[in-house]
Amino acid sequence: MLRVRPISSINRAAIITSRRFVSGTQQRLVSVTPQTSNAAITLDNYENNKHHQELTPPSTVSYLKTLSKPEILSLGMIGMATLNKPILNMVIKLFPYVPMPLIKVFISKLYCGGDNFAQVKQFGEKLQKRGISNMMLSLTIEDSEGTKNIDIDYIVGETVKSVHEILKPNMVSQLERCHGDATKINEIAPGYIALKPSALVANPHEVLMNFNSTDPYWVEQRNKLVDNCSRIAQNVYDLNQQLLKKYPQRTAPFFVTTIDAEKYDLQINGVYDLQRILFKKFNKMESPMISVIGTWQLYLVDSAKHLAMDYALAAKEGYKLGLKLVRGAYIHSEAKRDSIIYKTKEGSDENYDNVMSTVINDLMQNRSNSYYGHLVVASHNYGSQMLATELLNNAPYSPGKANVVLGQLLGMSDNVTHDLITNHGAKNIIKYVPWGPPVETKDYLLRRLQENGDAVKSDNGWPLVKAVFKTLFSRA
Ligand SMILES: Cc1cc2nc3c(=O)[nH]c(=O)nc-3n(C[C@H](O)[C@H](O)[C@H](O)COP(=O)(O)OP(=O)(O)OC[C@H]3O[C@@H](n4cnc5c(N)ncnc54)[C@H](O)[C@@H]3O)c2cc1C
Repeated sequence: MLRVRPISSINRAAIITSRRFVSGTQQRLVSVTPQTSNAAITLDNYENNKHHQELTPPSTVSYLKTLSKPEILSLGMIGMATLNKPILNMVIKLFPYVPMPLIKVFISKLYCGGDNFAQVKQFGEKLQKRGISNMMLSLTIEDSEGTKNIDIDYIVGETVKSVHEILKPNMVSQLERCHGDATKINEIAPGYIALKPSALVANPHEVLMNFNSTDPYWVEQRNKLVDNCSRIAQNVYDLNQQLLKKYPQRTAPFFVTTIDAEKYDLQINGVYDLQRILFKKFNKMESPMISVIGTWQLYLVDSAKHLAMDYALAAKEGYKLGLKLVRGAYIHSEAKRDSIIYKTKEGSDENYDNVMSTVINDLMQNRSNSYYGHLVVASHNYGSQMLATELLNNAPYSPGKANVVLGQLLGMSDNVTHDLITNHGAKNIIKYVPWGPPVETKDYLLRRLQENGDAVKSDNGWPLVKAVFKTLFSRA
């Protein structure tokens, strides 16, 4: 049995709704109609959507053709490092000992936006030329085990500054180029600021595990975490209100604070509660736009149930959720993987596509009345991204449409991003851009390497090496 911490303020109806969300024995979605919504997650939906997972991802060659020679060569190295599991495992083991200058030249450039504000701002302009109007910025200084003694005030201060020094000019310059055209104004994706809860308080593991403790010490620590997140979110909220006065045609937020998801224990004991507190503060139902989104990891068997509970709470208490839907990054390190994560990849895919299409349909139908508020489809999975794109392309324009944004990590599935933009007209697309002191981004880069090895995908390993050679020779 999974341990799910009870949420005292949830009403009985919500719990009944959430129980129907997941069949306990089969761990499959069966049928749910969230309160006040016309949209339903059903197995029928999945039968209709299933074929998307069988789509062949686009070739990497057409994307590689848009890159410089050094960038192509760096990708060739990633291809070599991910040729097969034993090679990748060896690279992962050696990675901590690789000198930083080498990492900077060959790897950081592919996965990171830069070391400082000026570099990242310039990087944003480069992305615009690729048809990617915005970024999800993440100052990458990580300390989920609480061992690094990091300066939290510095992180909060730099994060606030990055909203003003990077995201704001990136957005304002694009808005000015729209000359008041409402369609164009709504085609610019919001600028996101990603917050890792474990980087925003000292001793994060213990603070998140004791998030609901009534012990005055933990209450004080938890309040520090909430205050740090709130300080950043307040800046985002204020900027949204300022720009809305100048651009009232805009239906999606200009900027969004994003709470990243951590490992399961931290999610269940603290992060879900933290994001709920922020939704209540910054996503009031009567507000024209949300300012905060949280993350649900859909590889978790109980994720749909948690989302249903959150939906019911939002409807009851009059605020909007904001969602980033991911499959989940911690499959290699979750201690209780066998009991909390879907037993098969197909299970995760089914859950992802069902929840995602339900949220998109709800946003389309209920528009500004949807309790879902805003959605980032954060995935490299071509089938999921094509499903989202088709649902959006088949729907008439509505404020809900501008509130669905597709996102991939920088340097991951760039062929998918390129295909969605060039062949499927996607404008609502962003890249997750980590930035910061190179030495601090090493943990992040290591996770990307591990992730590249999850499956030797079409954009990794031998297919990538072949695509690199093909591109280089076709240029010669
Ligand atoms: C913009 C953005 C932000 C993100 N933020 C976060 C975050 O805050 N927290 C977080 O945890 N993740 C986050 N992720 C997701 C994470 O980093 C991985 O990119 C993502 O989980 C990989 O899945 P995919 O949807 O790209 O699909 P695919 O490449 O189709 O799937 C790979 C994923 O499927 C799942 N999987 C693989 N094998 C199995 C199996 N046998 N059984 C069950 N499931 C399996 C795993 O989650 C694996 O990572 C984010 C991703 C993006 C794009």
